[in-house]
Order: sequence, then C-alpha cells, then structure tokens
Amino acid sequence: MSSPSQVAWWAMSGSSDAANGTSSSPELFDKIVNLTKRRGFVYPSAEIYGGFRSTYDYGPVGVLLLRNVKDAWWRSMVQLRGDVFGLDASILSPPQIWEASGHLANFTDPLVDCTSCKTRHRLDKLEDPDQCPNCKERGTFTEPRAFNLMFKTHAGPVEDSGAVAYLRPETAQGMFINFKNVIDTTRAKPPFGIAQVGKSFRNEITPGNFVFRTREFEQMEMEYFVHPSEANQWYEYWCAERFQWYLDHGIPAEKLRLRPHDEDELSHYSSGTSDVEFMFPWGWDELEGIANRGNYDLTQHANHSGERLEWYDQAANERWTPHVIEPAAGATRTAMAFLMAAYDEEEVRGEKRVVLRLHHRIAPYKVAVLPLSKKPELSEPAQALAQRLRGRFMTDYDETQAIGRRYRRQDEIGTPYCITFDFESLEDNAVTIRERDSMDQVRVAIDEVESYLSEKMS
Ligand code: ATP
Repeated sequence: MSSPSQVAWWAMSGSSDAANGTSSSPELFDKIVNLTKRRGFVYPSAEIYGGFRSTYDYGPVGVLLLRNVKDAWWRSMVQLRGDVFGLDASILSPPQIWEASGHLANFTDPLVDCTSCKTRHRLDKLEDPDQCPNCKERGTFTEPRAFNLMFKTHAGPVEDSGAVAYLRPETAQGMFINFKNVIDTTRAKPPFGIAQVGKSFRNEITPGNFVFRTREFEQMEMEYFVHPSEANQWYEYWCAERFQWYLDHGIPAEKLRLRPHDEDELSHYSSGTSDVEFMFPWGWDELEGIANRGNYDLTQHANHSGERLEWYDQAANERWTPHVIEPAAGATRTAMAFLMAAYDEEEVRGEKRVVLRLHHRIAPYKVAVLPLSKKPELSEPAQALAQRLRGRFMTDYDETQAIGRRYRRQDEIGTPYCITFDFESLEDNAVTIRERDSMDQVRVAIDEVESYLSEKMS
C-alpha cells in the first residue's frame, strides 16, 4: 500500500463514490480532507503501519469538534427538555437482542462482485445496477448476496456458539431493552424519550467518502414513546425539530433538505420515514433518519424476552404498547457536514484566507489568546488570561510565529474569537478581540473579557 502522504490519504478508505468521479465538487472535498489532516482534526487510523481501511482517529482539534456536535445534540435533546432521559448502554451484546430486533435475519446489504475487475459493490447504492463503477464494464456482476453487516465476536475464553456476542450496529436497541428500567426508575410517562450517544459498528461493504461511511462510527439516537393515536403528530413534530437543529447550528437552508421515503424504501413496520439530507460534494446524502416505527420494537422484545413492555395508564385503567418515533443521526457524519458547510475562502489584502465559519457551539476552540510578543512581560499576563478563560471556554494559546499567521491558523480551525495581548495592554489593562467572520476588532477591558465572550456566545 502506498503511504498516506503519497496518495490522497482518504482514498485509502476505498470509496466507490469518491473514486468513480460522481463527486460534484471534488476540489472542495480534497481541500477539506487535507485541512482536517493538516490541522489535527482527523488522522487515518494506524497510519504508522500504513493505515487500516476505513477507520479514523480524531486528533486534538477534531475530538473537540466531535464532542461539541454530540454535546449540542444532547443539549437540545436532553438538557433543554424535561421529557427525554439519557442512557449509555453496552456495545457488546448477546444474540437474543439482534434476533428479536430482526438484525440477525435482515440487517444485510445486497453485495455484488464484478467478475471483470474483482471489485465489490453495494447493489442498492449503484447509480446503474448493471455497470461496474470501477471498470465501467456492463453485465459483469454476480448475483447479489445478502451480506450481514454485524461484527460478530466471542465473549469469554471459549469460542463456542454459546459465547457469541455482537458489536451493536446501532444504539437504538439499548433504549428498547431498557424501556422498563427507565419507566421504573424515573417519572417518565408517555410521551417521553430515551436518548443515547455512542459508537456503533457495521461491516460496511463500501465504506468511503472520508468519515461519511466507516465501519466504526458514532450515532446520536432517541426513541420517543407515544400513545398510538398520537404517533403521526409526533412524527411530524420530530421531523421539524430535527431539521431546525441543523439550521440552528449553522448549516445553510439551501444545503439541507428533508426527504420523505418512497413506499418501497420503507421498512415493513414503518409508517413513515424522512431523511435529513445534506448537499455533500458528491450530491444529496443522509445525515439523519426520522422514523415512525409503530410498536414493532417493543412488541418484538416483549415476545422474545417474555417481559411486559407496555404502558399502564392508571387513571384510565388501560394497557397499551407505545409507538415509537426515532430520530437517528450520525455524529461523525454530521461533524463532517458542519465542516463542509463552514468552509470558506476569501481574499483579504491580496492574500487567500481560509476560514471555517462554524457556529460557536460547534467550533473546537471558542477563543485563542495571542500575545503580540513572546517576551515574558507579555506572555506571562497573556498566559494568566488564557488560564482564567479556560474555566469557562475551550481556550487555545499561541505565541509562535507572526500574528498574521496565528490568526490564519485560528481561522482555519474555526475559532470564533482571538484575543491579542499587546504592549499597550500593560498600560490600559485592555486587549483587542478579533471576531473571526468579520475580522472586526474591538478593545475590551481585561476584566470584562469573560462577560463579553459569554454574551457573544450565549
Ligand atoms: P445508509 O443508508 O447511509 O447506510 P442507514 O439509513 O442505514 O444509512 P441508519 O441505520 O438510519 O442509517 O443510521 C442512522 C444514522 O447513523 C445515519 O443517518 C448516519 O448519519 C449514521 N450512520 C449509519 N451508518 C453509518 C456509517 N457506516 N458511517 C457513519 N455514519 C453512519
């Protein structure tokens, strides 16, 4: 394998989409992928060993971005509501769960092999189901085979069938199997939700397009349990809420759409599913699915486990199985969409400026403190200011290179505010705060910096 520096390193993921030239804006894609490597957002995993297909490590800046995406989701879905409860269920899980959920039988993708160039493809994702996107030959595909996407392993020292375990391919089942626990241990009553953020694993046939489709990824999912007669109205509600979340966090409306599934795309139990889609450089693609799942999941788990997974309405003396509305989003995929939506280039005084116009809640660092000189008379009070700000904001500190280059570095990682500590600061006890997008500068008293930033980023 070529070393990552010799080829476009994200191409190691073997993307059929990126490789076959369907990308409508490959240049933008390249620029963003290279920026993420250069600035410590994302590294190819196991790079010193030549890389490991389709896995990525999030670097010092990327881990902040990803965490902010998950925190922003949690804030909207759990913290700011009173009706959604959090959960962190285990990743390793016994086969019974996946038997009940239908994943063992049905969580498959149709796999075809090209007999001419020996590449492997997902039939349902091909633009032309009769033409190999790699060698362009027609009629060279084998019959499709159902390929189960779950990673199977063995728990404990014995590799017999009794020890089989699976890495979860979605976080959702954790919420269904804990439905009764949550009801019994909280004041939850329908309509209410259970939310979870965490890793999922799928043995994808054609991972690719950088972190868009990987075998290990993070999801942000919520199951909202409602009275059957209210399911439709809650489905509409969650479609609107989830769409608005992306707008509120800075994705422009023209790059976002809500696409209801056609009848033939729906799972047999779903009475409605809509995808929030983003205009990626290769076209519209999914960020999140919102599904009206009926009572399928609770009924399946009740039947397989023998537990009653119902709601008992004491006042009406009625028992019923709640219906479920599920907004299921990908954290890693969404982080990538935020980067793509935020990327901008402009000319400033004859020089190109690259800037990530990220929403402040998503931006990795909120503020950077930059002393004009490395001399201790400036660096010491500047470091003290940075340390003070760290209690409230993720703060970067940088005293190397010329100030212009330091601004450029912060622009490239999307830091909304830069604070310059100069020699005058020693006299007037004030600093210059530069805003990323407008590059406007204001002088603010050092004592007021925290309240200034809090107000700007509330
Ligand atoms: P796709 O059709 O792209 O395979 P899906 O419809 O199977 O996705 P869901 O099962 O609905 O996806 O999962 C919910 C969300 O999880 C997706 O909208 C996506 O953001 C994210 N996701 C799913 N699979 C992957 C993956 N392999 N890599 C990264 N994110 C993923």
